[in-house]
Amino acid sequence: VDRDAVDRAVADGAEWAFDLLERLVAQPSTLGREAGAQEVFAAAVADLGFDVIRLPIPDDIATDPAAGLPRLSYDGRYDVIGERGPRTGPSLLLNGHMDVVPAEDADRWRDPPFTPVRREGRLYGRGTGDMKGGIAAGLLALRALDSVSTDWLSGRLTFVSVIEEECTGNGTLAAGRAGHTADAAVLLEPTDLGILLGGVGIVWLDIEVTGRAAHAHVASTAVNPILAARPVLDALREFERDLNDEHRRDPDPAFAALDHPYTVNIGTLHAGDWPSSVPAVARLGVRVGHPRSWTADEAIARVGAAIAKATMDDPWLAAHPPVVRPSGFRAEGHALMVDAPLADAMARAHRDAHGAEPDRFTLGSTTDARYYLNQFGMPALSYGPRAHDIHGTDECVELASVTAVARTLTRFLSVYFGASR
Ligand SMILES: [Zn+2]
Repeated sequence: VDRDAVDRAVADGAEWAFDLLERLVAQPSTLGREAGAQEVFAAAVADLGFDVIRLPIPDDIATDPAAGLPRLSYDGRYDVIGERGPRTGPSLLLNGHMDVVPAEDADRWRDPPFTPVRREGRLYGRGTGDMKGGIAAGLLALRALDSVSTDWLSGRLTFVSVIEEECTGNGTLAAGRAGHTADAAVLLEPTDLGILLGGVGIVWLDIEVTGRAAHAHVASTAVNPILAARPVLDALREFERDLNDEHRRDPDPAFAALDHPYTVNIGTLHAGDWPSSVPAVARLGVRVGHPRSWTADEAIARVGAAIAKATMDDPWLAAHPPVVRPSGFRAEGHALMVDAPLADAMARAHRDAHGAEPDRFTLGSTTDARYYLNQFGMPALSYGPRAHDIHGTDECVELASVTAVARTLTRFLSVYFGASR
């Protein structure tokens, strides 16, 4: 494959890719509403000559020990899997997640979160960065390769667009369990053109603190669960501090080098229904990052024990212990070796496209790469565009980074499938 020709093809296709990205972002694919965006993806891969499979997530997936705990029925919700090329030769899987996190803070955005807006080289909107921009970059790379070569694909290429990466991982797990695996996987997460090798374990917990409801004028004799939750919040802070104090003993230098890998995040707090009523219960939604050496069950047990210990001295909480329940993520940590051949191959492709060495790093978060590495015995890494404010206000992706990723991917793919050296 001629590099100059393929670079021209990427540049010529950029507008096509940005338009596709805008159409993906205009579909608000939050939990339970993924189908619209999935159909945009299905049409795009079909146009590129892929066979398209719509794969439902089995309702009993929660019985899989590697699954997250579903928060919603899987009725009418599905992964889209595109497959192309002969079943002989090398095989590769590209993975992107089509689900996006909600934009509850929509009124603080400069433009509505699901209305894609281009400004100063960036595309704004929920999901532009995490991670529809990466999906668009992958599609652009394939389109460019196809336009300069009819026979670059010497093996099986699978492009999976999954749901529920942001809460359970069950979309990728279901696709793998259904046999959609390959010799290696590349996830197109927003890594700022770096090579993301691994992540920590993550569990989600619902914590319920009971109070005693009453009219506000007798609140002094009632128990407000929002106020009663204080020792629980303190215990979670302390748990986080201890974990991060100890983590520098991690045998993997990439993890030991991280500043603050384990975040215990209070993501939601729900209590009450009326300013003049003392609520009966307060519910916290908490995300706990934990070391790779722990299983999900171990992490859940340790948080439960820390909360139990901290609430023992509180007369109300000792008599009404907070209830801790797992929900959503039960994600094990994962890591690709820093010098794995797959990482070297992506680094070579990046150097060839951009003339510089890409960073290789890990993060205090997770991606679906853990399933390929832990469950399916496949090397896997993430590589994708430069995004800003993912999961935040005014999320955006730098459009030039979408084409830059596509240029790297054209090198990576053509070498992987033997069409370039
Ligand atoms: Zn993501």
